[in-house]
Amino acid sequence: MDIASLPVTTLKGAGPRLAEKLERLGLRTVQDVLFHLPFRYQDRTRLTPIGSLKPGMEAMISGRIELADVVYRGRRNLVCRLTDGTGHIHLRFFHFTAAQKATLERGRSLRCFGEVRFGPAGLEMAHPEYTLVDGSQAPQAEEHLTPVYPATAGVHQLSLRKLTRQALDHHVDHIQEWLPPPVLTEMRLPTLKEALVLVHRPPPEAEVTALEQGRHPAQQRLSFEELLAHHLSLMRLRANLQSHRAPEIRPAGDLLKKLLTSLPFSFTSAQTRALNEIREDLKQGRPMQRLVQGDVGSGKTVVAAGACALAIEAGYQAAVMAPTELLAEQHLRNFSDWFTPLGISVAGLSGKLKNRARQEALEKIGGGSAHIAVGTHALFQEGVAFSNLALIVVDEQHRFGVHQRLQLREKGSSGDRLPHQLIMTATPIPRTLAQSLYADLDVSVIDELPPGRTPVETVVVSAARRAEVVSRVRAACAAGRQAYWVCPLIEESEVLQLQTATDTADALREALPDIRIALVHGRMKPAEKEKIMAAFKQGKVDLLVATTVIEVGVDVPNASLMIIENAERLGLSQLHQLRGRVGRGATAGSCVLMYQAPLSELARARLAVLRETGDGFEIARRDLEMRGPGEMLGTRQTGMQEFHIADIMRDRALLPQVQKTAQMMLADFPQHVEPIIRRWLGRKEDYGGV
Ligand code: ADP
Ligand code: MG
Repeated sequence: MDIASLPVTTLKGAGPRLAEKLERLGLRTVQDVLFHLPFRYQDRTRLTPIGSLKPGMEAMISGRIELADVVYRGRRNLVCRLTDGTGHIHLRFFHFTAAQKATLERGRSLRCFGEVRFGPAGLEMAHPEYTLVDGSQAPQAEEHLTPVYPATAGVHQLSLRKLTRQALDHHVDHIQEWLPPPVLTEMRLPTLKEALVLVHRPPPEAEVTALEQGRHPAQQRLSFEELLAHHLSLMRLRANLQSHRAPEIRPAGDLLKKLLTSLPFSFTSAQTRALNEIREDLKQGRPMQRLVQGDVGSGKTVVAAGACALAIEAGYQAAVMAPTELLAEQHLRNFSDWFTPLGISVAGLSGKLKNRARQEALEKIGGGSAHIAVGTHALFQEGVAFSNLALIVVDEQHRFGVHQRLQLREKGSSGDRLPHQLIMTATPIPRTLAQSLYADLDVSVIDELPPGRTPVETVVVSAARRAEVVSRVRAACAAGRQAYWVCPLIEESEVLQLQTATDTADALREALPDIRIALVHGRMKPAEKEKIMAAFKQGKVDLLVATTVIEVGVDVPNASLMIIENAERLGLSQLHQLRGRVGRGATAGSCVLMYQAPLSELARARLAVLRETGDGFEIARRDLEMRGPGEMLGTRQTGMQEFHIADIMRDRALLPQVQKTAQMMLADFPQHVEPIIRRWLGRKEDYGGV
């Protein structure tokens, strides 16, 4: 039987109760167990002489109990002194049973594994794992490094080791190899079976550091296959989509021309290029799936408006969707300003809209008298019907994942025809990454800012100079401008973080009594957050203190100063996006990056990048170069589905080969495509069809 459908309960020891808990780790089948990888390893393959132990080491030792005693340190501790002739160490037990106390007596020989630390009387191990050994026998060590697995309450390491042991002994031989042999040879990758065996039970000489970082060839092999599976699924999705029909949009372009001449500016050449690419797609009669990537402020919205003009002139409707109410309102205002004078009707639809107003909007959209509908995801909820929708614009797509993209498209389809989709994102991603993450999309890049923008002046200062920064805020607000003060997440705990932001707001209120200060944070309800953001936008608040929830894309032209605390803890791209909030109006923007001294060389160099360049793509590239893997983009930020083993940043060197292999498999090994996708995406991959 295929191990992908063999339930865990077929393994010994995995009864219904354990199975229920394993489910919490996502482990349902034997294959899931094999793909549940250790995140670190312990070395029990050799004994460490007690005399050479150092604090912080995890080690296996063996020796004879010289002394066993119950001592009182606040409570009863059982302490044994163990010696092996090279030195001695104490074993300390804070909890112990009478039976344990009887066993651990003078003269007994033990083998222990634990972490060494400093205790009141020299080195000690607290609650080591131990087994009694016969003093005359040579103590037995393990043959492999011991895996430590991600676990959960009620699932112990020992159970996980037993389960993986069985899976390796009885099932790994049956696992199907889907990577064609030439690929394995060319990339010098181990087979799937070899890789799994090594990762679960590495030999003593394996490179533990590489393993713990996921860079070992065995893990790279698994990451490669996972990335390949995702890539194949996106390619299949794309092919599938291309087989559908979409409205052919080929108007003369009069409405677009009118729109362009009515604007107070002319398009940058990057905007023109993006719009031309869109125009070409819309003609095809196949659903467009295009992503427009452009830096903050590069003018993506008006490009989307151009696309809408094409659809409307051809006799269709367009929908524009924003991730939040506030952004939806902003778009509604812009689109109305642009289109109403041209005789085009724009309707807004948000979750806020009640009864009559909602009913009216629905009728206009359904009856076709509204040409453009602007709103939040409320646009695609039940009860909303379009009369003739041909184009969906999705703004700030990193809030939406592949799944939402698909759902949207289904909602918007009419008959056998699918609407075109245009997705806009301000998260700059280097090219190879974009090609992988968005393999189902065509990508246009707006790599030019409208002329006349002065770059945001950026300074880096130590938090010790806080008083100066506060004066700067006072001066800016006194001059009638507005400012942001960002307190990013630095505590693990959301409560502590909120406390920090609250304290900061209080301290600023005290220092700046004449200034209207408001606090916005992630714990607030969306409606509450939006109310404060709206007040800020209307100029009723001078200084907005925020955790990192500041709306991406919200335009407050009068805000020209941004202070970011603990800037050294944030990704460069994130800092760049935040900084993009200021300098949208007439006054040149400035940004103060505050750090906690001392600043490491690397951190200093990273922050310097922001001082030196304002180009989001360049910043993303430098960020990638300077930082470790996995830090620049969370999956949340890219809207990308989570990977199980792969890490898109760490493993990015594999991506070109992933793309090449995917092409080759589709051409030469098409029968392997389905099973490889199924293996890695399993039931998640129900989006292969439309
Ligand atoms: P983003 O790409 O971040 O979504 P927006 O579409 O919000 O940027 O545009 C930012 C501002 O720049 C808006 O006020 C918009 O009207 C203006 N803008 C867009 N294109 C141009 C242009 N070619 N020249 C001058 N201003 C422009
Ligand atoms: Mg925008």
